[in-house]
Amino acid sequence: MTFSVHGLAVARGIAIGRAVLMASSRVDVAHYFIEPAQIEDEIERVRVGRNAVVEEIHRLQQTISLMGPKEAPHELSALLDVHLMLLEDEELINGVKHWISDRLYNAEWALTTQLEVISRQFDDMEDDYLRGRKADLEQVAERILRYMKGVASPVAPPTTSRRKTQQDLLLDDSMDVPLVMIAHDLSPADMLQFKQSVFAGFVTDVGGRNSHTAIVARSMDIPAVVGARSSSNLVRQDDWVIIDGDAGVMIVDPSPIILAEYGFKQRQGELERGRLSRLRHTPAVTMDGQKIELLANIELPEDAPAALKAGAVGVGLFRSEFLFMGRRGNLPDEEEQYLAYRRAIEGMEGLPVTIRTVDVGADKPLDDSMRDEAHLNPALGLRAIRWSLADPAMFLTQLRAILRAAAHGQVNMLIPMLAHASEIRQTVSLVDFARAELDNRGVAYGPIRLGAMIEIPAAALTLKIFLKYFDFLSIGTNDLIQYTLAIDRADESVAHLYDPLHPAVLRLVAETIAECNAQGKGVSVCGEMAGDTTLTRLLLGLGLRSFSMHPAQILAVKQEVLRADTVRLAPWARQLLDAEDPAAFLAG
Ligand code: PEP
Ligand code: MG
Repeated sequence: MTFSVHGLAVARGIAIGRAVLMASSRVDVAHYFIEPAQIEDEIERVRVGRNAVVEEIHRLQQTISLMGPKEAPHELSALLDVHLMLLEDEELINGVKHWISDRLYNAEWALTTQLEVISRQFDDMEDDYLRGRKADLEQVAERILRYMKGVASPVAPPTTSRRKTQQDLLLDDSMDVPLVMIAHDLSPADMLQFKQSVFAGFVTDVGGRNSHTAIVARSMDIPAVVGARSSSNLVRQDDWVIIDGDAGVMIVDPSPIILAEYGFKQRQGELERGRLSRLRHTPAVTMDGQKIELLANIELPEDAPAALKAGAVGVGLFRSEFLFMGRRGNLPDEEEQYLAYRRAIEGMEGLPVTIRTVDVGADKPLDDSMRDEAHLNPALGLRAIRWSLADPAMFLTQLRAILRAAAHGQVNMLIPMLAHASEIRQTVSLVDFARAELDNRGVAYGPIRLGAMIEIPAAALTLKIFLKYFDFLSIGTNDLIQYTLAIDRADESVAHLYDPLHPAVLRLVAETIAECNAQGKGVSVCGEMAGDTTLTRLLLGLGLRSFSMHPAQILAVKQEVLRADTVRLAPWARQLLDAEDPAAFLAG
């Protein structure tokens, strides 16, 4: 039966494919694709894990058989029998084999997926006793997972193929069936792991439009919907799903007519992209002759080719924290960071690269084991520059690596989340200290321009101090909106209040641009507002000449720039700033 689930549109386009449910196991497991040659080994790993748990239970049974009924009640022995029975269950064993052989899931992923499939059958049972056995099943699966933990190593994902059905036949028969990922939640690090993957789209139950997970999905340029509430409960493994990333809707089990309609929309989108690609070499100049700088936001050095391909004239934001994530506390040392920054700089072939110092915390945990449950408001906690200043040795390592990489090209260093003059002064002296350390070691380094992000209202309201110390400013509208409006950017329940056009946000953005322009200092916007084509004319009207965004958005923004006349937009933008309802003014 066809049904739809509504969420928040985060990455444009249409994806049509089979659902892959990312099971939410209580044990933190790796999810990756294996090579066909590894199928037997992966099945063997599950078998060995399962046998170990069976043996463990047998040993336990022997021990309790020697005890009296007081220490070991009869129920305990019966429970162990149930666990043994579940471990022998054909559906569990065959299901796991299926996910490994047909889908090339790694062993842990296959086991949690099959656990999810069987758990749902238990949920549907009328009998209370049988329904209660779900917890036992989870326990035995988790024991196997714990046994297997630590013996996996991710490999590059190959494409996958599978048996075709009626809907498959409506699609291009010669192609492998596309897969779409449905999960309760995905961390930015999980998302990054899927960057080079086969998935044609993503849906998550939770998350806001500008959460970091959504931002990474957008950078992958594939359709994505977040905040789709209970989607991971409603969809079943292998269901046919359409993800409409423009409308923020997921359609499950679509009828052939709906499929055909979306197939048409998908092809229209591809044609539009083809048309836009012709603008790649066109200079971004407005109708009245203003040159506009269109820069790329990247997460990894490997993103540089996509930035060049999209016609970016440099990198306006390299989110260096992605080098630090998912490493289980084993942070990259100076050499590793230096090589990564150098790869990004060389990848940009002489164009400037703005490297932002690490911004972890809030919805960007270093890894799952460090998810911040201890602090009530992690977004207001030890995040970004606060985290760096709290660990000067770690921060100096990064500063030295960036300075060294600057010997290989034009580098700007960008500091996130500053609010206090004391933080600014500490940062500037640490940069000087890092230079002195390199001098002492006799290691070469290059010149940098030092910039600050304006993403806290306190920063936007004390620009004079910032402009005294920094060469340029970059407005991080994602956080500026979050902190001005007190709206957690990762919380879908308040997503409707997250408003880039709120007059208070616009005033802070407008004043920052105006002050920098008046003092002849560089200013750009690197938050998601920069890549939103509905806001391009407004930002141009406010005097912005430098925009940094995901490579995928650059050509669409360039199209807006080419049609704009800043002489006419400036008075219009001033009027908009005074409007009670700027959104209505913009639309009208
Ligand atoms: C921002 O806050 O606008 C920004 C660009 O930084 P991030 O999204 O990484 O917090
Ligand atoms: Mg930010």
